[in-house]
This record gives sequence, structure tokens and C-alpha cells, in this order.
Amino acid sequence: MKRSAKIYLLMGVSGSGKTTIGQLLAAQLGIPFFDGDDFHSASNIEKMKAGIPLDDSDRYEWLKNINRIGNEALVADRSVIIACSALKKKYREIIAEHMEGSIFWIFLQGSKELIQKRMATRKEHYMPISLLQSQFDILEIPNESIKIDISLDKQTMVNTILEETNKSTLGVVGLGVMGKSLARNWARNGVKLSLYNRYIKGVEEKVAENAIHNYTELNTALGFVDVKPFVQSLMQPRIIFMMIKAGRETDQFIDEILPHLEAGDILVDGGNSHYEDTKRRIAYLEKQQIHFIGTGVSGGEKGALNGPSIMPSGPFEAYKKIEHLLNTIAAKDKNGKPCAAYIGPDGSGHFVKMIHNGIEYAEMQLIAETYAYLRYVQGLAPNKIADLFHEWNQGTLRSYLLESTVHILQKKEGDAYLIDLILDVAGNKGTGNWATISASELGIPAGMITGALFARYVSTLKESVCNLRQQTVTNSTDQSLSLNTVKAAYTAARIINHQQGFLILKAASLEFKWDLDLSNIARIWTNGCIIRSALMEEMIIAFHQHDELFNDDKIQQEIIALKQDLKSFCIHSLASDLSIPCHAASLDYLNSLHAKHATANIIQAQRDFFGAHTYQKRDDVTGTFYHTEW
Ligand code: NDP
Repeated sequence: MKRSAKIYLLMGVSGSGKTTIGQLLAAQLGIPFFDGDDFHSASNIEKMKAGIPLDDSDRYEWLKNINRIGNEALVADRSVIIACSALKKKYREIIAEHMEGSIFWIFLQGSKELIQKRMATRKEHYMPISLLQSQFDILEIPNESIKIDISLDKQTMVNTILEETNKSTLGVVGLGVMGKSLARNWARNGVKLSLYNRYIKGVEEKVAENAIHNYTELNTALGFVDVKPFVQSLMQPRIIFMMIKAGRETDQFIDEILPHLEAGDILVDGGNSHYEDTKRRIAYLEKQQIHFIGTGVSGGEKGALNGPSIMPSGPFEAYKKIEHLLNTIAAKDKNGKPCAAYIGPDGSGHFVKMIHNGIEYAEMQLIAETYAYLRYVQGLAPNKIADLFHEWNQGTLRSYLLESTVHILQKKEGDAYLIDLILDVAGNKGTGNWATISASELGIPAGMITGALFARYVSTLKESVCNLRQQTVTNSTDQSLSLNTVKAAYTAARIINHQQGFLILKAASLEFKWDLDLSNIARIWTNGCIIRSALMEEMIIAFHQHDELFNDDKIQQEIIALKQDLKSFCIHSLASDLSIPCHAASLDYLNSLHAKHATANIIQAQRDFFGAHTYQKRDDVTGTFYHTEW
């Protein structure tokens, strides 16, 4: 359905002037006008003439008829004006079905006395004045509407409607790396924008103005440094997408903008906020009748510009109002569906994004470990490793991160490979840390994410803890591994990384009652995001059938077939003094899961020995707890 057409829906009690204003507006805009009253059935008209108020079942078909007019106009990409009382929220929901993002609700607001006076002068209308009270009784004033005072003169009312409907559809806050790229993406998709960036004298000046000037697609956007006019430039209900620093800064901005918002407005946080902060903000803003949506956004700068993966959560009703805006900029999966989907309530979107980043940490570390083995044990030059990774990337190992590493390893500065000039210290912005903490709190063994995170921490510490920089990699005395073994080890470890990551999601879904759709989460991660890969395509199918990856026969067989290679890789790497936290964690995880001779019985006995924590017995199916005086 095309989205450039608009439906102007004038609503209000009978006698508020919907037809008069609607016709004037239609003449001014040169578009057709439909009077909702003309679409009542004969039986409804008879009832009203007889002074009997309509009930909801009387109204249902009538509302569906009005919905049909709107949708037919949108399909034909034709703007229309419709006048209809639409007094209850549920009536408006029926009317607006499939028209999200294309409908302006214009509420003609006035006192009963004024309307009664006007009705008294009307001739030949089937609605008796006596029914007016019943209309006021059922009226639920729409928060999300343009409110027009009917005591104004007609032309002022029309002008106000034109002014309000001409405002920006979306406000973007924060024009850093991500915000600017998202704004450009929306603008390219025809969304009318207002842009805001804070002003700090001498540091952050004219940020929005410069963005508008520098990017042609932003030329029609409006730029602001003050919150109040920024908010006033947006049509109601206002939709404001924040792309700013997570944490205290986000709370500070919410406090700053809140006094300027009105009931029904929607604030969206696209930053990497902690999911518990999102939950708190949803509850806080709900009390002020402001909707809050927390959304994960993945894809970095390029993804934001050309199509990110988007993971929104929060009140579903509010999500439905912004769904079209998210879908329009999202990457598309191989079937053309947007890589954006409602994740669930609370901060579930930010939780899912956090685990995405955790999986990303381990995926990056696995590539780094494979590179280190090929470089330092097998002695391949970076360009040769790039060639090999390029070859792997043509098949089932295809991933955005592997492809990126090919480019990284090919890059030279002068005669040197750039990779050799980069300091061996890795930073992080906290999401891997949160993912590790959350996995631990949920009781899920995410050893690979933790291993990848701690590898980054070690990189910042090693100089200060002890200077072993002189130690060189010892070549393993055994013969080098075949490249196929290295490839198989990497393949196995990646599957285990995905199993652990999705296991955290499954646990969170049960714990927080989010009802996460793991298959759909895999689907929206197949494009736009940093962990998109051929393997992720397999996850869609696997999680469609199972909620646990290792229950998938194909995956299980693959892991069994690859385990020996993973083991060989770990042994060779360790024998060569390489640090391989992620490969080792993946192998250890498999060993722990499948070990015939487990260690947990010793642990439990020790716990009972010093703390009387009790234990259960293998041969007692009742699950009775025992304690021994050791
Ligand atoms: P940048 O540092 O490039 O931009 C941060 C933005 O936040 C700037 O516009 C900055 O304004 C604004 N800001 C900072 N503090 C405040 C404040 N107190 N009040 C109002 N605005 C403020 O970061 P990114 O664009 O990379 O990231 C933005 C958000 O998106 C972060 O939460 C980040 O974690 C998340 N994110 C980043 C991704 C990435 O790949 N970079 C991917 C996905 C999410 P000013 O210019 O004035 O400093």
C-alpha cells in the first residue's frame, strides 16, 4: 500500500461541524469529501429517527464501511476527507485498521451548550437534539488527535488543521553517528522530519543545521537546538526517536522533554539502554500518559543508513503507531519482509539487543582466535588469511563479521598491514558486560560471551599485571592442522555460541513472561545487523521447530561430526601458547554437557559437607533431598 496519501478523519459529536469543516477543507485541498452519516444502514437511520440510540452492534458494519472508504483511497494513493462521529476508542480502532501512519484524527471540540444552539438552527437532519447527551456520554476524547476549538471561525479552523497536518511526522533526537544515519534513511523514505541536537557553546553548535546543510536528503527537514519548538514542530500524537547516549543522559533528556509532551505522545529510545532502565521508563511515563518504546537497533552506521535490524518493545498499542516508521527503514530479509518486529513487553527489545551484542562479542573473538592461529602458528600473512576467509565466506560460513575481517586484513598503510599497526587493546561499551551479568542471573552458562568479554579486559590489563610481552608463540611440535580442521573448529564454535545466546533468550522469556519468538528474532537478525550470517538463516528453521538448538537433529549431527576438529584446534593452539578463550569455552561446554564422568556430584557433596546444603541421589526418582554427617 502506498503511504503518500492521507486520510483526514474529522470526528466529534453530532452538530460539531464535521460536514461543514470537512467540505471546506476538501475544497481547499482539492480532494474528495465523504460524510460518514451517508454510510449508515436504513435500519440505523430508522432507529435514530425514532430517537433510539445506536448500540455497538448497529455501529460495527457502519464503521467497517468507513474503514473500507479509507483503505480504498490509500490503495489508489488518493487523499480523502471523511467526517464521522467515531466517539469511542474502539470505533476509531475499527476505522483506522490498516491505515497506520496515514490517518489524521481531527477532533472538533466544543461545549454541549454551543452545539445544542447550533443544532437548533439545523433543518432536515435525522438526529434529534435529545440524542446529543447520549453522544457526550459515550465520547472518549482521543489523546492522539489534532484538537480544533469549534468556537473559532470556520476559516481559522481550516487553517489550523492545515498547519497541524503539515507538521513533521517524526522527531529525531541526537545526531551522532547513528541518529544522523537513521534520519537520512527516514528522509530518503519520504518521512518528514524535525531534528534536534543539544547545544553546547563552542562544542556542539549548529549540529542539526549542519546535517541539514550537508546531506541533500535532509534538506526538507527542520533543525532545532531548543526542545520546545522542536516538539511543537511535530504533528500529534508526536513520535520522537531518541538516539543518544544510554544511561543518565537518556533520563536527563526525558526529564527535559517531558513538560512539553502531551497525553498520547510516543517517545522511542533507540540507544543501547539497559532493559531494566527501559522497563522503569515505560512505567514512569505511563503514569504521565506518555507511551515509551525501547528499541534495539543494530547495524552500526552503515546499517542505520541503509537498513538496520530493529528490535522494539513496550506497550503494543503504541508500537502499532510507529510500526510503519520502523519497517520503512529496516533492512529486508530474503523474502522482502522488514528485519524489524515487535519483540514483547517491557524492556524485552533492549534485552534481545543486549544478547545480540553478546553473541557478536563471541563471534568477533572466534574470528580473532582463528586469525591468531593461522598467523602465528601456521605463519600465513594477513592477505593470505584474507583470501582464506574470503573463500569460507562464499559458503555456509558466510557472515558480515567474517566479510569485514577480509577487508580489515587486506588493508595496508604504506608497506605495512594496518592490522599490525593497531594497538593490541580492545575497548567495549558495556553491553557484553550486561549480557554476561544477565546470563549469570538467569543461571545460563554463557561461557563464550564471558570468554570474549574477559579477553577484551585482559587486553587492557596485560601490560600492568606482568610484562610477558617478550614471550613469543611457540610452534607446536606436532604437525600443523589442516585448514579444513581450523575451518571445522570455527564452524562448531559458532554453532555453540548461537546455542548459548539463544538459551539466554529462552530463559529470559520464561522468567519475565515475554513469550519471545526465537525463530522471528533469528529472522530479523538475518539482515541489517552485525551478526547476520548464513548460520542465522538456519536458526530460523531450527527455532521454528524447537526452542532449544541442540534438539535439532541436523545441528546435533553437525556438532558430533565437528567436535574432533574443535578439540584438535584447541589442543594445538594451547600447545602453541595461544589464548583461545572462546574456542576453549565452546569445547569445554560440550565436554561438560556430554561428560560421562561429571563433576557436579563432587561439588554437591562438598556443599553438603561444609554447609549442609543437601543433595539428591541418582537412584531416587522422588527427588528427595539427603544430608550426611560426613
Ligand atoms: P555518538 O556518540 O555518535 O552520538 C551520541 C549522541 O547523543 C550525540 O548526538 C550526543 O550529542 C547525544 N547526547 C549525548 N549526551 C546527551 C545529553 N545529555 N542530552 C542530549 N543528547 C546527548 O553515539 P552513537 O550515535 O554511536 O550512539 C547513539 C546511541 O545509539 C547510543 O546509545 C549507542 O549505544 C547506540 N547504538 C550505537 C551503535 C553504533 O554502532 N554506534 C549501534 C546501535 C546502537 P552531542 O553531539 O551534543 O554530544
